Amino acid sequence: MTKKYIVFQCPECGRYLYTEKQHKTRECPCGKRVKIKKSKKIGETKNHREARQVVRKLQKEKSKKHGFFKYK
Ligand SMILES: [Zn+2]
Repeated sequence: MTKKYIVFQCPECGRYLYTEKQHKTRECPCGKRVKIKKSKKIGETKNHREARQVVRKLQKEKSKKHGFFKYK
């Protein structure tokens, strides 16, 4: 059985993250404990590998648009 993953955005720093679907919170590297339900969901993927690829792609696009983004 494969687990589904959710890709979402941290409301604090705007970083893209992913986590297993059944998880309710995920700690962002910025220190914020993000509630998945309340965060901005980007999408769902079938597996871990796909989630990682989506996040990488999103981060790339984001850095292209805004230049370097600031880490808190
Ligand atoms: Zn964050």
